[in-house]
Amino acid sequence: MSKETQRQGNGEDLNPFHIAQQQFDHASRYIPDLKAGLVDFLKAPNRMITVEFPIETAEGEVRNFVGYRCLHNQVRGPGKGGIRYHPDVTADEVRALASWMSWKCAVLDVPFGGAKGGVICNPKKLTKDDLRKITRRFISELGDSIGPYTDIPAPDVNTNAETMAWIYDTYDMMHKGKNNLGVVTGKPVDMGGSLGRNEATSRGCLFCTQRALELGAVPGLERLKGATVAVQGYGNAGAIAAQLFAEKGAKIIAVSDSRGAIVNRDGLDPDAVLEHKKKTGSVVDFPDTKKISNDELLTLECDVLIPAALENVIRGDNAAEINAKVIAEAANGPTTPAADTILLERGIPVLPDILANAGGVTVSYFEWVQNNENEQWEEDEVNGKMRAKMIKSTDAVVSTQKQINDSLEVLDAARKKRGLDGAPLTRIDLRTAAYVLAIGRVADVTLQRGIWP
Ligand code: NAD
Repeated sequence: MSKETQRQGNGEDLNPFHIAQQQFDHASRYIPDLKAGLVDFLKAPNRMITVEFPIETAEGEVRNFVGYRCLHNQVRGPGKGGIRYHPDVTADEVRALASWMSWKCAVLDVPFGGAKGGVICNPKKLTKDDLRKITRRFISELGDSIGPYTDIPAPDVNTNAETMAWIYDTYDMMHKGKNNLGVVTGKPVDMGGSLGRNEATSRGCLFCTQRALELGAVPGLERLKGATVAVQGYGNAGAIAAQLFAEKGAKIIAVSDSRGAIVNRDGLDPDAVLEHKKKTGSVVDFPDTKKISNDELLTLECDVLIPAALENVIRGDNAAEINAKVIAEAANGPTTPAADTILLERGIPVLPDILANAGGVTVSYFEWVQNNENEQWEEDEVNGKMRAKMIKSTDAVVSTQKQINDSLEVLDAARKKRGLDGAPLTRIDLRTAAYVLAIGRVADVTLQRGIWP
C-alpha cells in the first residue's frame, strides 16, 4: 500500500515528515526555555539533495532513477543514516528518517548528526548488477556531499553489507590515497566492517526491552523468559530480533514479511523460518503454521510486539485493537501520533524507535572509530560497549519521563511566564521523553558552539 493510499484510507496525515514534525512540536512544549528561533532551526533539515541518473539494465534498457540524501543536522557531528531502496521512497520519508537519526544519535549520545538517503526503485524487480550500477551512480552523483567527516551512509531497507561495499568502493575510487573506510558503515567484516554490526539493531532492541522490563515498564512482565513475541518484518531487523529474543527464552509466536504473516502459538523456530524464507522468498507456508494477514499479526495477543518493517503500521485505526503488553520499535516510524495517544491512554508502553533501534547506529559509530584507528575490536567488546550505551540511554529516557510527569505544574507555570500557549501539559510517553532528552542535548551543543558567524 503506497503512503498516498494509506493517507486517504484512514483520514490521518501519514506523511512521515509531518509526523516527525508533530512529534518534535509536541515534545518541545515540555522544554519551555527553548528559544523560538532554535526550535525552527532544530526542526528543519539542513540540506536535501535530489539526484536523477540513468543506468543500463540487464535487459539493455536505459532507465532513470531518482535518489535523495537529506542531512538534517550536523551540530553534534557528521551526518549519519542509512540508504533505503524501495518503490515507495519519497522526499518527505527521507526527511523524516534523517530527523529521527538526529534525535536517535543524541539519545544514545553518539557524536553524529542525522541524515538519510533513498532511491526510488524496486529491488525485487532488478538484478544484482542493476543494483550495483544504481549504487555506484547514486554515490558518484552525491559526490563530496558524503564523506567520513561530513555524512556517513549505512544500510537500511533493501540495502546490506554488499551495498555498503559498493558505496565504499565508489567513494574510494573518487578519493584515492586516503583511508576512506569511515565513509560508510555496515561494511563486510573483511573490509573494515565491525563484528556485531549486522545484528546490532536487533541486539540493541533486545537490550532496551530487557532493561525497560527490569525497570518495571510493564507490570507483571519482568523478563523475556516465557514471554510471547510477534515480529512484523523478517529482514535484517526482524529476523535477527526473533533469533535473539528466542535465545533469551521468549516464544516467537508470529512473524511476517511483505507477502503475509504466519502464526503458531506453540512457538516458531526463528532459524528454521529464516531458512524457509531463504529457500522460498517468504516466511509464508512455513510448516505447521496458520497464514494470517499482516494486520492480524499486529493485533495478536502477545507480550511483546516488534514492528520491524516500515512506517505507519500502528495507526489511529488499529491502535485500540493492539493486544500486546509492550511495543518495541525495531523499525523507524511504525507508530503514528494518533496511535501513540491511544496507546498511552491504554497503558501500553512503546519503546520508541529513536531509542529501541539505536543499537545499529551505535555499532556504526564503533565501526567508524575502528576504521579511523585501523583496528578491529572483538565482538564481545563491541556488544558490551553497545549494551552499556543502550542501558544508559534507556535509563535516561525512563527517568526523563518520570521527571516530566512529576513536574507538569511547574512546567505549565514556566510556559505561562514565557507567554506560550495555555493548553495544559499532560502526562508524556517514552517517545516524548526521548525527544525531550535529545532536543535538549542538541540545543545545548548548538548554544555552546554559538550561532555562526
Ligand atoms: P530489510 O529490507 O532487511 O527487511 C524489511 C522486512 O520488512 C522484509 O522482510 C520485508 O519483507 C518486510 N516488509 C516490507 N513490507 C512489509 C509489510 N507491509 N508488512 C510486513 N513486512 C513487510 O530492512 P531492515 O534493515 O530490517 O529495516 C527494517 C526497519 O528497521 C526499517 O524501518 C529500518 O529503517 C529500521 N532500521 C534498520 C536498521 C538496520 O541497521 N538495518 C537500523 C535501524 C532501523
